[in-house]
Order: sequence, then structure tokens, then C-alpha cells
Amino acid sequence: MCLILAVLLPLGFVANKIFTNFYYNQTQEEIRELSQKYANTITSLDDETMINMYKNLAYFTNKEIYITDASGRVIADTGIQVNPLNNNELKQLSEGVSIQKNVEDRETNNIYLGNGHPIMLSNTFQGSFFVLAPVDDAHEPVRKIRDLLILSAVGAFFLGLGFTFFLARKMSSPLLEMERATREIAKGNLDIRVNKLPNDEVGSLGAAINDLAAETNQYRANRSELFANISHELRTPISYLKGYANVLKNNLYETEEERRQYLIIIEDESDHILRLINDLFDLSKMEEGKIDLQMEAVDIVEIMETVVLKIGIELEKKGLRLVTEIDEDIPFIEVDGNRLEQIFINLLTNAIRYTEKGSIFLKVRSKKNNVYVTIEDTGMGIPKEELPLIFERFHRVEKSRSRELGGTGLGLAIVKNLVEIQHGTISVSSEVNRGTKFELSFPKVE
Ligand code: ADP
Repeated sequence: MCLILAVLLPLGFVANKIFTNFYYNQTQEEIRELSQKYANTITSLDDETMINMYKNLAYFTNKEIYITDASGRVIADTGIQVNPLNNNELKQLSEGVSIQKNVEDRETNNIYLGNGHPIMLSNTFQGSFFVLAPVDDAHEPVRKIRDLLILSAVGAFFLGLGFTFFLARKMSSPLLEMERATREIAKGNLDIRVNKLPNDEVGSLGAAINDLAAETNQYRANRSELFANISHELRTPISYLKGYANVLKNNLYETEEERRQYLIIIEDESDHILRLINDLFDLSKMEEGKIDLQMEAVDIVEIMETVVLKIGIELEKKGLRLVTEIDEDIPFIEVDGNRLEQIFINLLTNAIRYTEKGSIFLKVRSKKNNVYVTIEDTGMGIPKEELPLIFERFHRVEKSRSRELGGTGLGLAIVKNLVEIQHGTISVSSEVNRGTKFELSFPKVE
């Protein structure tokens, strides 16, 4: 608004000045020409008819006239009362020079622009012919233009006001809506969304707020699901512990062997809880990126030999055969040796756990810049629709069976996290009742 006024006010002032001068000069010029023409055409100062004709002409052109004799005395006029000419004016006129003179009607006090021209008859000065135009005549068109300018300025002012109001509303309403939405989000109402987003920077800010709400909502849903899973996972072993502890406390067993059995169950269930807690702790550290890795060049073959030794008893228990196929000259890989061992132990334990008969195949190859490891079994397999889900926390194909076999449901989630933070890849393929194959790759040391 200030800008509009700052432009319009000086512009109006200048325009007013220019137009006033223009009309003033034009009126001066007009009465100068008329007085000259009348003075040159008058042939006698006594001819009443002629003088009346000039008076009529003056009337039609909205002018006043008066005629003086050679002494400066007014001898004819259109009704205005003017002072006689002074000596100076008379002198100029008698020398044949026309004069410009603003006069005031003594009766009405109206101001007139005037121009007088000498009347020369037979080359002698006989008097002067004055033509007068009301000053208002010069000001009238200027006033009209000024009124128009004021009108357009007021119009522009209100237009500007309306436009500013419209713009302010248009800009502030999405911002207000975003403020409302973020306050709701802060209160925990994560289903709220910013609606009617404009297609500009404000709109993308709104979209970012919506994304934030959706992400936080997802995070909250995941967290609740995780808590539900953890409680569910803990409930079963703890109810075993409680039940068997109760049996022992109340001496509800018959033989010493039975008592020993119950104690073994308590020990197993405690181990299970411990494993679960350790796995959860590991996973949460990994997901928060807080796990410490001792990255170094590692000989994967050496790690494999340790792993094979560690799982030997389990293999034997189930009567399974391990077939290893490790290429010669496998290059070192840049990983954390302990974590790599944990990956293979998890995968091989699963292979043993979910295989009843047959063999487990372990292959290590190197190709181009990578070292590839394949762990394949001839076990129960995983249905196709479950394959994309098995790396998720607590996802089990056969819930009761996995628990029975000692699984926590976190093994593969940990494996995938560990592989990825060590710059490796893991994929799975499987066929129900035929077996499952996990394929891993790690970049070799440059
Ligand atoms: P769990 O502790 O239950 O074994 P994991 O995260 O290690 O949890 O595995 C998730 C699920 O994937 C298992 O419950 C099992 O149903 C399935 N699974 C994993 N490895 C195999 C495998 N080698 N053969 C068949 N099913 C498997």
C-alpha cells in the first residue's frame, strides 16, 4: 500500500502541475490571439453595432471584453468593472505592444486572465482591446483531470488493499493449517494430515509435514508391534519357568529323575530367554547404527573352519552330513571376523534346525571382486509367499515349531543387518519339502 501511495502521490502532483501550466498557457494564447484579432479588425470606436457584435462574440466564447480609448478610459465592456489602465500599461500599448494583465472584477471579485492589444487606426494609437477569460476556465479541465486522478488513486488503493488481503489470506491459510496439524502431531494425533496443499514451497513444506506424520505413525506402529512380540515371546518361557518352579517348590514330583527333568527344562527356558534378550539387544544396537565393528582383512576360509567345528555336535545329533566345497585361493574380505562367524552360525543352525534328513551344503567361491558363500539344505523349505518376510523380526513360518526347536525368530533379522552393515548382500530361494538356499556375497579386499 505504501508503495502504491509513494508512486501515486508525486505522480499526481507532477501531473497536476503539468496540466495547470498547459491549460494556463493555452488560455493565455487564446485570449492573446482574440484580442489581437479584435483590435486589428475594429474600424471605429464609436460604431455601436460593431461593438455589440464583439460583445456577442465574447458572450458565445465565454469571454469578457473591454475597450479603452487612447487615454486608458474604458469606453465599452461586457459588464465587468475594471480599473483604468496605469501609465506604464498605456505607454506600452501606445508603442504598439500588447500586454498581459490579470484583472479583478470590482463587483464580483472574480479573477480573469487578460490580454490587451493596441487599436491602431491610420497608424495612430486610438485605444486598446482587452479580452478576458475567467481563471476558473483554465483550472476547470485541470480540476477534472485531478478528480479523475484522485478517483483512480482511490480505486488503486482499494484494489491494492483487496489484493493484499486476498494474497495474505491465500498465503496464511495453509500456514495456519500446518501449524494446527503440527500441534496435533505433537499431541500424538498422528492420523492428521495437511489438506489442500498449494503447488509451491509452502505446499512442499506441508507435504514434508505429512510425510513426517506418516513416518512417525509407522514408527509407532512398529514399536507397539515390537513390544507385543517381545511380551508374547517372553510369556511362554516364563510361564514354563513359573510352572516347573512351582512343581519343585511343592514337591509335586515322584522320582529324582523327574525332578532332574524339570530342572533341565528350567535351565533350557532360561537359556532361551537369555538368547532372546541378547538377540534383541544386538538387533536394537544394529538398527540404531550403534554397533561397534572391528573391520579388518579376514580369511573367510579360516572362519568357516571354526564355524564347522562349532556346529559339529548339532549336525551329529541330527545325523546330517555337511558337504563343503571351498575354492582355493579365496581372497580376504574386509569384515568383522566375530560378526561374520555369527552370520554363518545363525544360517547353519537354521539349516540344521529345519532339516530332518539329507545334507547341508556349504560353498565358498570367489568371482571378480566378490567372495560368494552358499548355504543350502535339504529341509522343509519355505513357501514362496513367506520368502519376502523371513528377514523381519519375529517372523516365523511355523510359529510353534520354530519355538520348539529353540528359535527366537530374530536370527535372520540379525543376519541381514550384519551382512548389510559389512557391505555384503544376502538373498534366499527355497522350495517347500526340497530345501532352502541362502546366497551371500562380500566385496574382497582391494
Ligand atoms: P528362528 O529363530 O525362528 O529360526 P529366524 O529369523 O532365524 O528365526 O528365521 C525365521 C523363520 O524362517 C524361521 O522361523 C523359519 O520358519 C524360517 N527359516 C529360516 N531358515 C530356514 C531354513 N533353512 N529352512 C526352512 N525354514 C527356515
